[in-house]
Amino acid sequence: MAIERTFSIIKPDATARNLTGAVNAIIEKAGLRIVAQKRIQMTRAQAETFYAVHKARPFFGELVDFMISAPVVVQVLEGDNAIAKYRDVMGATDPSKAADGTIRKVHAKSIGENSVHGSDAAETAAIEIAQFFSGNEIVG
Ligand code: ATP
Ligand code: MG
Repeated sequence: MAIERTFSIIKPDATARNLTGAVNAIIEKAGLRIVAQKRIQMTRAQAETFYAVHKARPFFGELVDFMISAPVVVQVLEGDNAIAKYRDVMGATDPSKAADGTIRKVHAKSIGENSVHGSDAAETAAIEIAQFFSGNEIVG
């Protein structure tokens, strides 16, 4: 399998509950390596750009307000098949539908406040990583 990189965000509901380490433990146990990580306060402009694909959705305003409501931890994860693997480790968007042991099943509060983001494809992973990290901040 190919070594890939994916982009992850530990969202405000998780940082507010002091769950950064708990989420990272699940990530690392799954065999993904955290090759870049920083805690930031997202600006409204950054959040709107990041979730631009959802601009027309009814929850867009709520989503942007949530993403800037507290600090987030942005990360680059590396490993075999990292993009699909991290989607599995995160679990379904709605935590009530997420599989046992997934980050969202264990920690998420609701479909909106669902603790983590992970890229959905190689193209989006590259774009999302470049939005938050320069090349020399990623050390594999
Ligand atoms: P993410 O892109 O954050 O990894 P995802 O790919 O599982 O999550 P998307 O459909 O891309 O889900 O939705 C992006 C985010 O928008 C969700 O993670 C969630 O925070 C929010 N969201 C999605 N659907 C709803 C909804 N029905 N109500 C409120 N918020 C929602
Ligand atoms: Mg998504």
